[in-house]
Amino acid sequence: DAPMLLSVQLARLGTRFVLLLAEDRTEAQRLDEVRRDFVANISHELKTPIASVSLLAEAIDSAADDPEQVRRFAERLGAEAGRLARITNEVIELSRLQASEAVNAPRLVDVDEVVAAAVDQNRVVAGAKHVEVAVRAKTGARVYGDPALLSVAVHNLVANAIAYSEEGGRVGVGVTASGGAVEIAVTDQGVGIEPAELDRVFERFYRVDQARARNTGGSGLGLAIVKHTVQNHGGDVRVWSQPGRGSTFTVRLPEAEEPPEAEAPADPAS
Ligand code: ADP
Repeated sequence: DAPMLLSVQLARLGTRFVLLLAEDRTEAQRLDEVRRDFVANISHELKTPIASVSLLAEAIDSAADDPEQVRRFAERLGAEAGRLARITNEVIELSRLQASEAVNAPRLVDVDEVVAAAVDQNRVVAGAKHVEVAVRAKTGARVYGDPALLSVAVHNLVANAIAYSEEGGRVGVGVTASGGAVEIAVTDQGVGIEPAELDRVFERFYRVDQARARNTGGSGLGLAIVKHTVQNHGGDVRVWSQPGRGSTFTVRLPEAEEPPEAEAPADPAS
């Protein structure tokens, strides 16, 4: 009967409401934890270079009589300062990306151009390591987005592919477009990633091998920046890897549709 039905429905609604509240609370708690972790990680990441900077300043002070020593310490001081600047920039960039869900004022971006430029930015580092980078980017495909953000994302993937390659290794970068999607694939034959680590590499500050990653100068933010950039562009990023054989990272983005053909002016007589 009606009152019975009504009270059952009210009870259901009530349960749903309580569930919603509970979900909300756990989401808020989760975000809070994420925020606290982030701050803890940042302070941890900054402590090492800051400690180095003050040690080096002291060392320069006490080596005042030896110009060669002073020069060497000053050089290292510069390198540590550069590292601090890089981490700070990446943290700022990442928090901006996380604060928004979409790209501000998207424009038509030529994907081939972005990819070719990102590879060029990595040529010197690749050359120093004798890593050959082969590019195939001739699709003419375009996406809507922020060219600067997309460049950083592709740059990070290519830089990683080189950093985690052996000396003399090969890296392949390719763009393909089909079915309304543009795919950018970056493949290396480097150290690879264990299956258990695959999901985690996109987390902020996550590094499979802390010592090795520190030597490559990474901050552990590169792939988090890639992930958030790609998500803000409505796409996704995936990774395949075999430990000891290499990895492939692929970014998929929705292709921008061709602008409609200019329509013939309407015939006023008809
Ligand atoms: P990092 O600055 O340490 O490179 P990233 O966020 O770019 O930070 O990458 C996170 C971790 O994922 C790296 O420390 C490394 O362990 C692993 N990784 C990323 N790219 C590759 C790759 N191409 N091959 C093997 N491992 C990789």
